[in-house]
Amino acid sequence: MSLFDDDRSKMVELLIKKGIKNPNILKVMSEVERHLFVPSYSRSRAYEDCALPIGFEQTISQPYTVAVMTELLIPLKDDKILEIGTGSGYQSVILSKLGCRVFTIERNSDLARSSEEMFKKLNLRIASRVGDGTLGWKEYAPFNGIIVTAGAPVVPEKLQNQLIDGGRLVIPVGDKKTQTLIVIDREGDKFTQKNIDGFKFVPLIGKEGWKESE
Ligand code: SAM
Repeated sequence: MSLFDDDRSKMVELLIKKGIKNPNILKVMSEVERHLFVPSYSRSRAYEDCALPIGFEQTISQPYTVAVMTELLIPLKDDKILEIGTGSGYQSVILSKLGCRVFTIERNSDLARSSEEMFKKLNLRIASRVGDGTLGWKEYAPFNGIIVTAGAPVVPEKLQNQLIDGGRLVIPVGDKKTQTLIVIDREGDKFTQKNIDGFKFVPLIGKEGWKESE
């Protein structure tokens, strides 16, 4: 038993109330210790359903957002998944514990370093690198799924082109205040799209994202 077990069960109960259904995602989120991914001063708030600061003006996403995006991605065991915006590493760990082969890119080298340390500590094989994720990770493409955890002004073309035939991209797109979650399915050279409104992310900064000065 750890100090936060009760809080974590309550968080998962709330996710169920809010409509999360996938039993594998609920199980993994009931096991992964979110308090290890936030700075020690906000540990007591780690299981509140909200985003929390992780330094460098970045956040760990709200648990409900992590659950919805993961559910939309429909990750299957052994799927090759690319995540853009490693941040604390929490979303990568959720995907890895679901049995996916995870590749993750973070533009902030300090965050990339600390999340890599966490992956090692948890004994998880997650490939990570520092860079501009709007360009994807060509060497390992194509991916069964791509998940972008920062808000983009438009869907980066390079990312959707790194999807496998039958693959899916989940990405928040909008202005800097609010975004729509866009789910793109690839069938050959055809891309179909559905939208879910009302999300809020930190900006995706890069060649096919926001400019740093914007
Ligand atoms: N998935 C993260 C987690 O589980 O903690 C939350 C990520 S946070 C909401 C968004 C992250 O995207 C930030 O760490 C930010 O530095 C990163 N980011 C923004 N633009 C990026 C880009 N072009 N490439 C890679 N990472 C980027």
